[in-house]
Amino acid sequence: MSTQPSRIRLLAGDQKLPDGCVLIESEFPYIGQPVAFRAAVPTGLARLPDVVPLARAICDEFVRRIISAVADAGGKITCTKGCGACCSSFLVPMTVPEALRLIEDLQALPPAQRRRLEPLFLKAERKLVESDLAGQMESLDPNDPASTVAQRELAGKWWSENRFPCPLLKSDACGLYRSRPIPCREFLALSDPKCCATNTETRVHRPFSMHQVVSAWAAQFEGTRPTLVLMANLLGWWQHNAERGRRSWPAAILVRSLMDILAETARQANKTFEGPIPGGSR
Ligand code: SF4
Ligand code: SF4
Repeated sequence: MSTQPSRIRLLAGDQKLPDGCVLIESEFPYIGQPVAFRAAVPTGLARLPDVVPLARAICDEFVRRIISAVADAGGKITCTKGCGACCSSFLVPMTVPEALRLIEDLQALPPAQRRRLEPLFLKAERKLVESDLAGQMESLDPNDPASTVAQRELAGKWWSENRFPCPLLKSDACGLYRSRPIPCREFLALSDPKCCATNTETRVHRPFSMHQVVSAWAAQFEGTRPTLVLMANLLGWWQHNAERGRRSWPAAILVRSLMDILAETARQANKTFEGPIPGGSR
């Protein structure tokens, strides 16, 4: 399913603004350097998942800058294609807009591919339901803001100990790479890939997480607490939340808000960030 406008996107360099779009710009420091984004936003309404490609593109630009900063500091990212231990030990948490968008990306796949993936998602969900994890998570206080973090840590620990692959993992690579969630894009290791299988990896430090920016932005529009959707529970979650993908707002307001939260987060993070390599300097 796709609604108008479908093409909120970043403009490269001096690329001209397409007809029927407004320009939303933002500039702020990132790893001590200025970064500027120009987004083309069609006039009219948009839904939260319509903004996800823009958030993914911004995240990818941050990742490029992190990789470059690591190289400048003499480090090396060890992640490569086909090195997928993380995809078997990482219970991917998604923001609500990303979960809604991933459902649409899955629905757009050829039928044969959908038929192959559906049982994998159901199997992952069954593992979650059959575990004692749900009960442990329920015992956390939903009114305590720290419980979201505690839930994620608890779920991640349980998942990695039980070593279930992500339903999208195919031949040790991401089977839906262009649609992979932001936490997968942001996850960069500096250590031997073997460490990722035992959760002893050294991760690159980021000034902030784009995942948290999107989470805060979506909560503001939905009027809810920031919510996480687990990849393993995506289909079950969607059955009860499909209507959240139908609400719409003026597209320019959605994008302006995302850019404002992003810029403020980046400015605050820039004051204390000490560099991408743990223990290194900027
Ligand atoms: S996070 Fe670890 S397992 Fe995943 S791609 Fe990077 S080095 Fe490989
Ligand atoms: S979505 Fe892709 S990159 Fe992320 S954990 Fe699953 S297979 Fe790995």
